[in-house]
Amino acid sequence: MRQKIVAGNWKMNKTYEEALQLASALLSTFEQHDTPLPKIILCPPFPYLADMVNLTKNNSRFSVGAQNCSEHQWGAYTGEVSAPMLKSIGVKYVILGHSERRQYFGEEGPLLAQKVDAALANNLTPIFCCGESLIVREDNKQNDLVKSQVEEALFHLPAEGIKKIVIAYEPVWAIGTGKTATAQQAQEMHAVIRKHIAGRYGKETAESISVLYGGSVNAANAKELFACADVDGGLVGGASLKPNEFVEIIRAGSN
Ligand code: PEP
Repeated sequence: MRQKIVAGNWKMNKTYEEALQLASALLSTFEQHDTPLPKIILCPPFPYLADMVNLTKNNSRFSVGAQNCSEHQWGAYTGEVSAPMLKSIGVKYVILGHSERRQYFGEEGPLLAQKVDAALANNLTPIFCCGESLIVREDNKQNDLVKSQVEEALFHLPAEGIKKIVIAYEPVWAIGTGKTATAQQAQEMHAVIRKHIAGRYGKETAESISVLYGGSVNAANAKELFACADVDGGLVGGASLKPNEFVEIIRAGSN
């Protein structure tokens, strides 16, 4: 269902104590009854997930997401973490196709399609990331690239499946660089993604999907970005590690 979402991708940061402190600071800022606020998803490293689920369980504004999962369910895959495992500890979301996974771990379309299937089969909501590099944007090929990323990983799904996906448009040139896409650039790409989904699944389905923006979102730019018609909130990296900044970004996602 299309809803405003602010998700924090903590990547490979924070000790266990620091992670709990950060989550506790957010929980004490946003009480269960505060309105209006976006859905808040915390995506800490794997070892902290179970305790994070426990810590947030009494505040329905908060959900917990993993930063990746295996395409396999079980078996001899040393070092991997599977969707059934995540489900068994109460994780609700999983980031898939993040540009760092694509760049450093060679994850691409067909594999991501399998990971999406594994997540959905276990009632996890994929936060599927797509986005172009700087070279692609300089070549003005960003729309084709992003459309093909979406197609490769998601278009095998039936309409009921794609309705369960959250998409995050994250231009690679804006991730961790301090360079944010302008609100106009974000809106343009989000509209392209939605139109592409509408072409395959119909307008109603496309309108039901949350499309988040990610790439150097901070307290100063979040409001303008989140106000765009097709931007349903953000996937936030660096700024989600700083409690005060992340609180402001979450507030910027209020309707
Ligand atoms: C990300 O890694 O998903 C991200 C958007 O990072 P940052 O906000 O630091 O650019």
